Amino acid sequence: EEEIPEDHPRYQDLLTRHRIEAGVEKGITHLQGMHAEGRGSAFDYLLGEETIPSADDAERAAAAHLLLADHPVLSINGNVAALVPGEMVELAEATGADLEVNLFNRTPERIDAIVDHLREHGADEVKGLEADAHIPNLDHERSKVDADGIYEADVVLVPLEDGDRAEALDEMGKTEIVIDLNPLSRSPQVADVPIVDNIIRAVPNVTDHALELAGADEADLRTIVANFDRERALEDAEERIRSGEL
Ligand code: ATP
Ligand code: MG
Repeated sequence: EEEIPEDHPRYQDLLTRHRIEAGVEKGITHLQGMHAEGRGSAFDYLLGEETIPSADDAERAAAAHLLLADHPVLSINGNVAALVPGEMVELAEATGADLEVNLFNRTPERIDAIVDHLREHGADEVKGLEADAHIPNLDHERSKVDADGIYEADVVLVPLEDGDRAEALDEMGKTEIVIDLNPLSRSPQVADVPIVDNIIRAVPNVTDHALELAGADEADLRTIVANFDRERALEDAEERIRSGEL
């Protein structure tokens, strides 16, 4: 990361790519994660590589949902672990959420490596090793979750999630918060709170909102949740991308 000059016009993008490469080398990110990163990078370019106002609204609504939840869980895959390990730990602490490793290409080695990586970044307990429950309507390997984690969670944050799993979690009736730079992807389309923003900017901003809202009344949090308009958030992001105004 030292090699990239901070005044480079594409500094954040290069840093992101470098972190994914390092994640692949460290055994926490699958090679396919590089392709996901490439897609994300293209959409971020079209969004102007900044948090648009409707994404900030979504990030505030996400914070309110996590604070109101009985059992919030933050899902971690190989890209999330490579890009924002410490930031996810901080969000978990700010909202009282559990962290659970949940992989598309699941191997025990990668799960162990990600759990270790999160612990190096300050995590205490990390779920995902038990895999003693299944999300209905998904094939066997893809459906594995912890019974006392994602399976019983009322609110789940699933960044960069696969469309099939996002749909299956939605069908389970969970309040689903998705972070995904492509507003047309199925995952944000089924989310209660679609956050169309780079995870690198989104997670710290959700944490800032959570810290700011920590002392708020339940009624105020419910108002924030009720006032959030998911369709509008998706439309705003798509309009921004189509406008070509950078
Ligand atoms: P599907 O329709 O099954 O969801 P997909 O093309 O969306 O397929 P996936 O690999 O399932 O591909 O999802 C990766 C998603 O994550 C993409 O939509 C991509 O834009 C997004 N993404 C990649 N990197 C980031 C990032 N740093 N921040 C936010 N979103 C990202
Ligand atoms: Mg997708």
